Amino acid sequence: MAKAQPQAPAPLAGVFDIAGFRARLLGWFAANARDLPWRRTLDPYQVWISEIMLQQTQMDRAVGFFERFVARFPDAGALAAASEDEVLKLWEGLGYYSRARNLRKAARIITDEHGGVFPASHEAVRALPGVGPYTAGAVMSVAYNDPRPAVDANVERVFSRLLDLGGPVSAPATRRRILAAAWELLPQENARAFNQALMELGALICGPRRVDCAACPVAELCLARQRGTVNQRPVLPPKKELIRINMASGVLVHQGRVFVQKRRPDDVWPGLWEFPGGCLEAEESPEEALVREFREETELRVRPVGKIAVVRYGYTRYRVTMHGYFCEALPGQNPHTAFRLHEATEGRFAELGELAALAFPSGHAKLLALARADLRLAQLLAG
Ligand code: SF4
Repeated sequence: MAKAQPQAPAPLAGVFDIAGFRARLLGWFAANARDLPWRRTLDPYQVWISEIMLQQTQMDRAVGFFERFVARFPDAGALAAASEDEVLKLWEGLGYYSRARNLRKAARIITDEHGGVFPASHEAVRALPGVGPYTAGAVMSVAYNDPRPAVDANVERVFSRLLDLGGPVSAPATRRRILAAAWELLPQENARAFNQALMELGALICGPRRVDCAACPVAELCLARQRGTVNQRPVLPPKKELIRINMASGVLVHQGRVFVQKRRPDDVWPGLWEFPGGCLEAEESPEEALVREFREETELRVRPVGKIAVVRYGYTRYRVTMHGYFCEALPGQNPHTAFRLHEATEGRFAELGELAALAFPSGHAKLLALARADLRLAQLLAG
């Protein structure tokens, strides 16, 4: 039996004031758009960098990272020529590091296949690593004023309220409805401002928690506001439960250097550096876990010689409590030659100055900062 085709969403024309919506939204954006560094340029390379950064980072937070990134890598050629370590270091603190790795891979494609010039066709932009339908639409519309929508979570939220959509926002039918509305509302001649205006409305007025309908330029057209359902839109999937992890990590100091290792490509945070350690097993103390993990990961026999701190951090749905220790190698081994890596691709005893050039996941970056501020580190390095 032939599979039933999904019904095309009903058009808005005739039931929704499309011209009024565009005029109000664009007028509001012209008067209220924030001055952001990526809005001062139409350079497609910089627009692309900003869109990748904004995928999982709030605008205010992305500003400094963006400025440092484009100052160091002003074009695709400079980014393509950089080492992965350097790119990850500039990304340190932004999280979701696959974005940085994909940027570098894409820069190499731009250099090798497009002569170093950022592509101007939707297909070529969409083919770059790390570029999905939203990012391609955003880059093409902002950089080239190409008339195609850019629907991210912000825009989905605005449309689910504006049209009072009662289906889960992640359901294919709701997604189709939103995309169809985005195409229909998009003014062909001004996609650049329109897409940015929708995102700005979602960021400043129609937020996930803070909704300021009194200040909203399209409030008169908003169905959720008329029906009193603003707080129930968008309909979100149930939240996933948080997973709590207890772990121990060690800053091993030997002959003036500190041991660090690079995470494997198939692990979380691939390519980032860390201090060895891992999860506590049942009825194991943090110190016991530290000694065991060091042996399993590096074959080095160590002992903790002082607690640095308990560091707490989160990623995705994990909430980590990390017990951080200074430790030293037990006698009878030369740590510089005795380590064998089982959970890392590279390991080294580094001088403190070298560590500043390496990128660490947030928990290990915090542990390193605390260790550097601890007076015992100088004694251990000297000893
Ligand atoms: S009226 Fe309120 S809910 Fe509707 S789009 Fe504006 S801010 Fe969002």
